[in-house]
Amino acid sequence: MPELPEVETTARGILPHIEGQVIARVIIRQRKLRFPIPLDLEKILQGVTITKVKRVAKYLLLESSSGTLILHLGMSGTLRIFTQYQPPKKHDHVDIEFANHKILRFNDPRRFGSLLWTMDEPLSHPLLKSCGVEPLTKQFSGHYLWSITREKKISIKALLMNHKMVSGIGNIYATEALHASGIFPDLSAHLVTLEKCHDLVKSIKDILKLAIKRGGTTLKDFTDSTGKPGYFANQLKVYGRAGLPCFTCRTTLDSMIIAQRSTVYCPCCQFDVPLLQSRIFRQV
Ligand SMILES: [Zn+2]
Repeated sequence: MPELPEVETTARGILPHIEGQVIARVIIRQRKLRFPIPLDLEKILQGVTITKVKRVAKYLLLESSSGTLILHLGMSGTLRIFTQYQPPKKHDHVDIEFANHKILRFNDPRRFGSLLWTMDEPLSHPLLKSCGVEPLTKQFSGHYLWSITREKKISIKALLMNHKMVSGIGNIYATEALHASGIFPDLSAHLVTLEKCHDLVKSIKDILKLAIKRGGTTLKDFTDSTGKPGYFANQLKVYGRAGLPCFTCRTTLDSMIIAQRSTVYCPCCQFDVPLLQSRIFRQV
């Protein structure tokens, strides 16, 4: 599933091809995405100039003077730029053709993605309004994370993956950041100390920045906007490595299910005293 770095990579990848360009034609082959594509979108977009390409949470915003196209890649969506027409393949649902003859093509086998249009302020759109703080902003600090977790009895990993709390962090980067900061993923969020919140926020920012630099992960269903795979997968320390030795301490990595997602962790590096104490007290 594309996470923040993949979406950011996509935004940066398509930007030089479409920013300042006029949309000549829109072809929609499949309207039934997570939300149906508006019936008049082809008409609306014709002649529109894209003035800006932005990422907010895991949404791509293609801004123009008349409105904003809000795009979400869902579970398996990808965007590609073609410099000349190529026959569509299976799951190529939308083509946006520009006057410079470049084509922005949206492919989404599982159809959980979406393509919507708004003439209002995009951040007030119902989908974007509920998004939590952006992890790469100053607002997302150790103190901020500490303050929003004090009353939370859910696991720290489930909290990180809740997009109403923090935007754009999914299973891969939550798993990696918890390992990097030595926090047991199933630890109740309110038990994470202020010091550990600082460590965790730093790990999240470092990992996301590195992943963006490397162009995201090489998940089999993700390619960057030019079709080349990202180069972050070989940087992953724990994700997808259950049963293999921890790079830090050589202990065999274990896994558990948190919020319906497989979570890999190191029983040694992510050993947690408060959690162990709470378990001992429960047994007594
Ligand atoms: Zn370890």
